[in-house]
This record gives sequence, structure tokens and C-alpha cells, in this order.
Amino acid sequence: MSRFPLPPGSTLAILGGGQLGRMLSLAAARLGFDVLILAPEADSPAARVSAHHLRAAYDDAVALKALAQLCPVATFEFENVPAAVVQALEALGVAVAPGPSALAVAQDRVEEKTFLNACGAPTVAFVAVGDLADLRAGLDQLGAPALLKTRRDGYDGKGQTWVDSHADAEAAFARIGGRPAILEAPADFVRELSVIAARGRDGEVAAYPLAENHHKDGVLRRTRAPAKASPALIDQAQAIAARILTALDYVGVIGVELFELADGRLLVNEFAPRVHNSGHWTLDGCEVDQFEQHIRAVAGWPLGPVEPLAEVEMENLLGDEAEAWPRLAAERDARLWLYGKGEGRAGRKMGHVNRLRPLKG
Ligand code: AMP
Repeated sequence: MSRFPLPPGSTLAILGGGQLGRMLSLAAARLGFDVLILAPEADSPAARVSAHHLRAAYDDAVALKALAQLCPVATFEFENVPAAVVQALEALGVAVAPGPSALAVAQDRVEEKTFLNACGAPTVAFVAVGDLADLRAGLDQLGAPALLKTRRDGYDGKGQTWVDSHADAEAAFARIGGRPAILEAPADFVRELSVIAARGRDGEVAAYPLAENHHKDGVLRRTRAPAKASPALIDQAQAIAARILTALDYVGVIGVELFELADGRLLVNEFAPRVHNSGHWTLDGCEVDQFEQHIRAVAGWPLGPVEPLAEVEMENLLGDEAEAWPRLAAERDARLWLYGKGEGRAGRKMGHVNRLRPLKG
């Protein structure tokens, strides 16, 4: 008998204890599921709102066995879960979504861009860099300046540096710790956009309206959605997302980050195999938000409607910005989401606020 659609009352596992896990857990609870959080921290934003917390390292074999006894289905809230852990869970009979191949591709920037180009999703030109000689050859090929990023473990602009010239090559390689890297041509973009999309277990695909993203120091500050965009641009973004989802035989929500060029073409910067910060606006702006959509997909339920109900400006609350909660809570058109993190270290994502306006026309 198929385990799908997963009936309410089942326990669903989420690997990772951050705010994305928290919002996934809240959405799962609304649909009648219990959630088990696997996370090594003693106290985490996700564990605080979930039925169960398995406190262990992600690769703890005993913990994975315990998880498998309780949870027929698992998902994850961050993309650096070791792919081997997902394979181990599958070997124990747990259906993990998205699957290990999506995770493996997303964890390595060279694999990711190679995959994207192969499935018809264009990116900037790039070169794999293993050592300084590769970097010099890459600069010959792509020109300078170019952006050097570690292949793995980079996020929010960390592990990347501009290489201004050939003379800067050695120092730049040292700045990223001399690690295996990718050298990227600069994207001369007019806007950064993202498309959040989902694919169900039956292959159905649904994409949310485009979001326009504003970063500071590599960190997302603000998202405006639905973004002003021509039907052609929307079609282009949705086709890109659908190609990626289908090529990966993906189940769940994906976040695809895009550069819009002056000539109207879209390039993919990267994708996140999970719910995405630039999709937080859907919590208050869409019929079914990205968190519920992800739970629906992994549980083998039908996808929900993605139509917008409002125009939203989402602002991330970083560090001590969340201390303004009394003022934000008093704003009539603002919806405040706080992640239950104790300490507002500089730059740490503590919450976000969605400011709503009626949809135009
Ligand atoms: P990433 O860590 O790849 O998401 O990059 C973080 C931010 O750096 C992006 O949101 C862009 O603003 C910028 N960026 C990344 N790649 C490029 C590129 N090839 N050219 C220009 N800017 C980039």
C-alpha cells in the first residue's frame, strides 16, 4: 500500500532546526501532522514548535534509526545536510524529499551550473578552479573582474571574493582559503528576481509570482512581490523553474535565484532545494504559502493554489532590528514573524515583517 497521500496524524521529520524548519513545522501542524526535528542544537527555533526533537548529529546512525521508526517521510530545511545522510534514511525506508540528487547538485556550485546549462537554464560563464593555475587560466578565459566562490558551503555572500585583475589572483585565492572554487563572469544585471516553485509527487508543477530581491552585503534585506514583470518574463522564469524541477524529478518547494539582464534575458544564479527566504512573502500574500506547499508536496497531497492575495514587501529583521517588535506589532498592515531566537547577534536573521497592500488591478 502506498504511504501517499500521507494521512494526518503521521509524524514527518525535518532535518535542521532553523527558522525555515520552524515555519515548515507550523504549516505541517496546521495540516494535522506531528513533526520531529533532527538537529544537534539543544534549543532551536524549529524544535520549540514541534512535537518531537531528536537532538543528535545529522550522521548519527542511532538517531537516524530512531527517526526511521517514527517517520515515514522526511525533508530538510538547509541544503548542507550531507547527501550520505539522505541516502542512509532512504535505505532505512524513509521517503526523503527532495531526493539526494537535488541535494548533491545544489551543494556544489560547479555541478549546479553544469546541470543548469544542461537542462536549458542559462547561467553566467564559469570555470572550475582547483588551484592557482586554474584561476589564472580562468581569468584569461573570462577576463577580469570575475567572482571567485568556494564550490561548497557558501551562503549569504560568504566564501566569495571579486578578483580584480591577474595581479590579484594569488591574494584572492587565499581570501577564500585556497579551497576548490568556481570562477564566474560578472552578471550585468538590472534586477535580482526569484521564482519559488513546487513539484508534487504526481509531477504537477506550480510557480508563485516572481519576487524582486534586494541584498546588502550578500544578505537578503527586502523582497517585493508580485514583482512588476511582463508576461514574457514571467513565462521565462516559470519555464526555467519547471525545467529544473522536472530534470531533478524533484518533490517539494525550490527557490530559484535569477538575474534579469538589460535585454530581458534571465540567468540562473543558483537554486536552493528547499523553501527560500525570498518566499516568505507568500505567508501573508498567497492563498497557500510556500511552507504549506512544501509539506503538501512531500506528503503526496495535491499542491495548493499559488495566486497572490496582496502586494507584499517582506523585510528581514537582522540582529537588533527585531527589538523594534512593539512598533512593528502596532503597524496595521504589517504581519510580524519572529523566530524565537534568543540573542540578536549582528546580522543574524531574527524574524521578518510582511507589509501588505491591496493588489492592483
Ligand atoms: P550567491 O552566494 O551566489 O547567492 O551570491 C550572493 C550575491 O552576490 C547575489 O545575490 C548577487 O547579488 C551577487 N552575485 C553572485 N554571483 C554573481 C555574478 N556572477 N555576478 C555578479 N554578481 C553576483
